[in-house]
Amino acid sequence: MLTILEAINLSSEYLEKKGIEESKRNAELLLCRILGCDKLYLYLNFERPLTAEEISGLRELVRRRGSREPVQYIIGNVEFYGLEFKVNGSVLIPRPETEILVEAVINDSKEKKCRILDIGTGSGNIAVALAVNMPYSEITAIDISAEALLLASENAAANKCLDRINFIEADIFTECSELIKKFDIIVANPPYISEMEFSILQPELRIYEPKSALSDNSDGLSFYRRIAVIADKLFEGKGKVYFELGAGQAEEVYRILSLNGFLNINMVKDYQHIQRIISGEKN
Ligand code: GLN
Repeated sequence: MLTILEAINLSSEYLEKKGIEESKRNAELLLCRILGCDKLYLYLNFERPLTAEEISGLRELVRRRGSREPVQYIIGNVEFYGLEFKVNGSVLIPRPETEILVEAVINDSKEKKCRILDIGTGSGNIAVALAVNMPYSEITAIDISAEALLLASENAAANKCLDRINFIEADIFTECSELIKKFDIIVANPPYISEMEFSILQPELRIYEPKSALSDNSDGLSFYRRIAVIADKLFEGKGKVYFELGAGQAEEVYRILSLNGFLNINMVKDYQHIQRIISGEKN
């Protein structure tokens, strides 16, 4: 017979041996998933014995985490901008840095009636967070992955904004006639990891997250170049782009935007003082 406390300790030791950071937090999250409870319940019930079924369920999840599958995929959801999102292996796990991108757009245009294009929507985290917080916005969210779009629409429905977002399967490297002259804001957290950096990523990302969401299989800048070049076609009149940046890309992306005629280029740092968001305007 194993109690909650013993199960946490054993799982956490196992994960630590496997080289998992924050092994105790991981063990607790997995046990919460099995018991359908929150952390407080665990702490208040350390002596509660687990059933044989709960133990075997936990053992399976701990084994998956031990083989480096991200805890968010195992649990199946993640919080982003105070909202709940389902995630699976077909989408990038939303990151806290991306909340800074969402915040920048909301701060600039919260009360405006604007038409926003979210390029590479993945789980729909950016599109949904904008729809929920910008009551007058109309949002189009595109992705090349049909599986991602399916999950993104489920996330929109769960957050009660499915009617505010138009999901389209599209590839911005093709003609995209359905997107021409429709928008005043473009947002993207593009796949900005270069081919070289990709090969040295930790296994959680390299093996489990979709490669097409992480890397452009090139120098990491292709999406910034492409969007900067086609932005004029996508904007109806004036327009503004907001991008998330990879560490160390600020200077290059600044150059790409200014070469393509963007003005008032502005950057925002993340919690680690890395230039993380860049925006620029077209008049
Ligand atoms: N828009 C999603 C996010 O910011 C997915 C981005 C991506 O797949 N590169 O998390």
